[in-house]
Amino acid sequence: MTAPYLCPNCKTNKTRFNLIEQHVKSVKLDPQTGVVIQEINQSSLDPFHIAYKGPAYRVQCGACGLIEDERTFIKRAELHK
Ligand SMILES: [Zn+2]
Repeated sequence: MTAPYLCPNCKTNKTRFNLIEQHVKSVKLDPQTGVVIQEINQSSLDPFHIAYKGPAYRVQCGACGLIEDERTFIKRAELHK
């Protein structure tokens, strides 16, 4: 996180944000009940299970509450330089 942020919704907040860390937990569910039958280590996923490759965290604007990916806030700040 080394670039300035600007909220694309309220367009005023550049300073107050909540960073929401995303901790990935891969699981196998029972198809009938939805109960977790196995938690799987990222390195031992089977070939049919796609590993999470999304952002490590999302960002919430501390002024209006909008939640988006970090790049959305960075892009808006770049447009308003
Ligand atoms: Zn906002």
